[in-house]
Amino acid sequence: MNYLVVGSGLFGAVFAHEAAKKGHSVKVIEKRSHIGGNIYTKEVAGIQVHQYGAHIFHTNMKEIWDYVNQFADFNNYINSPIANYNGEIYNLPFNMNTFNKLWGVITPAEAQAKIAEQKQLFNLDGEPKNLEEQAISLIGPDVYQKLVKGYTEKQWGKSAKDLPAFIIRRLPVRFTYDNNYFNDPYQGIPVGGYTKIIEKLLDHDLIEVELNSDFFSHREEYLQSDAKIIYTGMIDQFFNYRLGELEYRSLRFETEILNQDNYQGNAVVNYTDAKTPFTRIIEHKHFEFGKGDPNKTVITREYPEVWQRGDDPYYPVNNQRNQELYAEYVQLAQADYPQVFFGGRLGQYRYYNMDQTIAAALQVVKDEFGE
Ligand code: FAD
Repeated sequence: MNYLVVGSGLFGAVFAHEAAKKGHSVKVIEKRSHIGGNIYTKEVAGIQVHQYGAHIFHTNMKEIWDYVNQFADFNNYINSPIANYNGEIYNLPFNMNTFNKLWGVITPAEAQAKIAEQKQLFNLDGEPKNLEEQAISLIGPDVYQKLVKGYTEKQWGKSAKDLPAFIIRRLPVRFTYDNNYFNDPYQGIPVGGYTKIIEKLLDHDLIEVELNSDFFSHREEYLQSDAKIIYTGMIDQFFNYRLGELEYRSLRFETEILNQDNYQGNAVVNYTDAKTPFTRIIEHKHFEFGKGDPNKTVITREYPEVWQRGDDPYYPVNNQRNQELYAEYVQLAQADYPQVFFGGRLGQYRYYNMDQTIAAALQVVKDEFGE
């Protein structure tokens, strides 16, 4: 084999596909029992279930949109999540619908005046010292209390007063009646699920895929082989956490099949109060406009968790301490393992959206093989 790809997520699959197209043999090893990494979807009652959390493809990069459309047809799903705050329903992202429900304002001018008045309720001297001050200085206390505080504190497992201000650099606020969460021109859900994209990417005579296969069971053997390695697992684990652990946030997913057609009327409902232990409920059939068994629906509750070794690492915590530690691991990698390329969300310790993951993988392909 010319290349060993560790991990069959989007990054590994795009690299494997492009390398095979150029005539190189590739072995992909995957420690889970299925391909796809976190974009894996599984059909239940005719419904594509997003096993590792809601995945909405959106991008402003035309070339990435064209690239991914080679492997799937996308529907015209537009993400318009709803917030449930103790039974009160609000539209997200913050827009005229949200402001109308909160304060009864009707015109953009009224909403702007109300936000200016709200911000004045909180007299902030100097730079915001924490996330709470930052959020209130951006949007005022009402939106903060009902739609930001509880959700953010559950997400990070910390009081907003103990979270750094930089997490919220800006809060998207719109003075139009537009519930489309993303600003990108291209958006949708692949018809028939994301797993099919990965299947197509990996479907090549020069690609061999081995499931239930952990890199660390054969680490030395692989490192001594002639193959170049594309490693998309955790960079700190690669070095056996020699310099210390990078921090991650984990998630627990609780999925239920219900004998009813429609549970919540929307794909994504965020629970923004502090009491409800989960952050959101996904109702998967709404990503495909109700496809599947008309008498069943599948919902998933998402609970943020502290990451511990052995858990799935979902979100890197990109604070200063972790960025510095990550930079030290990169130095070690460059010095000791020139045959290994660390890629993807875990290998590069970055919160990549799917389009950024594809773009990053294609860049490696370009660096490796030329145009
Ligand atoms: P992964 O998908 O994590 O793939 C890495 C693979 O490597 C995994 O399959 C893992 O099992 C395997 N692996 C790790 N270690 C080893 C080992 N030692 N041996 C063998 N295999 C190993 N992006 C969007 O654009 N829109 C969204 O709506 C969106 N929602 C998201 C929601 C959640 C909850 C999360 C966590 C992410 C979301 N993303 C979203 C981001 C998206 O999931 C990523 O961009 C993408 O999945 C990254 O692909 P990857 O290949 O880098 O990583």
